[in-house]
Amino acid sequence: MITLQQITRELKEYDGREIKIMEVCGTHTSSIFKNGIRSLISPKIKLISGPGCPVCVTPSVYVDKLVDISLKENHCVLTFGDMMKVKGNEHSLTEAAAIGGKVKVVYSPLDAVKIATEDANTQYVFAAVGFETTTPIYGILIDEIIKKQISNLKILTSLKTITPALTYICENEKNIDAFIAPGHVSVIIGCDAYKELAEKYHKPFVVAGFEGEHILAAVYEIFLQLKENKACMKNMYISAVSDKGNMQALSVINQYFEPKDDFWRGIGVIEKSSLRLKPEYFQYDAGSDFDEYKESPPKGCKCKEVILGRISPAECPLFAKQCTPLSAVGPCMVSAEGACGIWYKNRGRE
Ligand code: SF4
Repeated sequence: MITLQQITRELKEYDGREIKIMEVCGTHTSSIFKNGIRSLISPKIKLISGPGCPVCVTPSVYVDKLVDISLKENHCVLTFGDMMKVKGNEHSLTEAAAIGGKVKVVYSPLDAVKIATEDANTQYVFAAVGFETTTPIYGILIDEIIKKQISNLKILTSLKTITPALTYICENEKNIDAFIAPGHVSVIIGCDAYKELAEKYHKPFVVAGFEGEHILAAVYEIFLQLKENKACMKNMYISAVSDKGNMQALSVINQYFEPKDDFWRGIGVIEKSSLRLKPEYFQYDAGSDFDEYKESPPKGCKCKEVILGRISPAECPLFAKQCTPLSAVGPCMVSAEGACGIWYKNRGRE
């Protein structure tokens, strides 16, 4: 069996054409820094971040709507903390709160049930943002709302699905050679979800865990596949990811949600790339369909290029100058899963 030393030696000594591998989720990006993966492989093997930060791709109009709701009489927005600083076309929720908007940070969607039942005079709206990883919990929330007959709690959804985004990247960003599939999302959707993409676009898709050796092994698997001109899906995270995914979570998703075309900040509309409440549950939706997606990206911000893997965060002229986590210009610097924020925290370790 090949040892870790042999793998790193081979990856370090590689001197062929440049290989671009996209790691889709922020947890992998963080782990790549934490484990100094770039220092263990050849500079010809580029590890680049992808579109796996839900907050980063949530459209500005969605934030605008949350801001409007927060400013309405007897209304209150419930949200996770990472949405607070994300700018809409005018304000963020933090700014809305400063001018009188009612916004509460919660740690679980199920906290919303308690908050809403204790204050029947306020209409609460939960900012339901995420990928397939968090969607089942919003299904459970709807289940609770129905069972407990809570009339003052709705959700505003921006729930994205990852495979349409990966299809978009495969179609439009031809220079990406291979993907490290997102670990947490894969637990829910299963690794079979990437088989068709690997075959159709002839690119390796490797599902990996989050430890340093998991990532190195995934990079090596991709390296071998490319060397042999192969392109297949390989699940290297079998302790957590099955072929078909988490059937219980998927059944909750399918019960309450259905796929819809959706707008991704910085990218545009991607077909069937979100999950919206089914029509029979519309009464629990706070208006998640938008007629138009007005976007005014911050001047100079290169979030689009970062999300699509065209540049690294450090190549944005504003990185660590005008744009830092304390004065974030774009959403990729705001969220804990955003590539720019992760690169900022780890600057100097590239
Ligand atoms: Fe946008 Fe800031 Fe990232 Fe540049 S560093 S792409 S301005 S978020």
